[in-house]
Formats: sequence, structure tokens, C-alpha cells
Amino acid sequence: MSETIFSKIIRREIPANIIYEDDLAIAFTDVNPKAPTHILVIPKKPIPQLDAATEEDQAILGHLLLTVKKIAAQMNLKNGYRVVINNGEDGGQTVYHLHLHILGDRQMTWPPG
Ligand code: AMP
Repeated sequence: MSETIFSKIIRREIPANIIYEDDLAIAFTDVNPKAPTHILVIPKKPIPQLDAATEEDQAILGHLLLTVKKIAAQMNLKNGYRVVINNGEDGGQTVYHLHLHILGDRQMTWPPG
């Protein structure tokens, strides 16, 4: 399993602005925000990327989406928000620990770049 900077955040070895935590997931603000609200939701299990998830991870994947919804409410994103998973090189993934971006508090455009 992969060891990334996000594993260090989970273990509190490097600082992060953690806004949510439960048994399976943790969420913190993105250090290089692309929107006024930019949160990363990650599983505590170090799944490197969406492509590496298996049937065994079904409950964790569902939990992550429900956690996104909970955090969006916590952050008062009443007008909507965007959820992004970058997978692999063409997806623009840079940290190989699965994460869901929550972007909010501005109008998003489509298609993304
Ligand atoms: P991705 O390009 O989808 O792999 O996204 C990785 C994200 O992690 C980027 O938006 C980075 O700004 C963010 N990031 C990298 N290191 C940290 C960190 N130490 N704390 C918070 N966010 C980070």
C-alpha cells in the first residue's frame, strides 16, 4: 500500500486544517485551493487511486460520497458544489492516495480544463 503525504496527515505527522474525521475518513482544506472552499476527503485506508479500489472497498467508497454530502452541509454550500476525483496521469492526479475534491463558493465552469 502507498505511503504519501496524506498518510502523514492522517497520523498527524504534518499539519493540516482537519475539518472532519470518523473511523473511515478524514477531510482537510486543500493547501493550494482552486475555489474559495476547497476540501479534500480521503479514506484512512491508503487506496492509491480509484482504479486501485476493489469490491472490498465498496462500503468505503459509498462512505466517502456520503461524507462529501455531510461536509458540504457543514460548510454551508447551499448553492451547490463540485466533487472531483482525479485518476492517474491523464486525470491530473498528483497525490497517490485516493481523494475527493469538494469545490465550492464560486460558480464552476464546464467542461473542466
Ligand atoms: P490531485 O491533483 O487530484 O492529486 O490533488 C492533490 C491535491 O492535494 C492538490 O489539490 C494539492 O493542492 C493538495 N495537497 C498536496 N499536499 C497537501 C497538503 N500537505 N495539505 C493539503 N493539501 C495538499
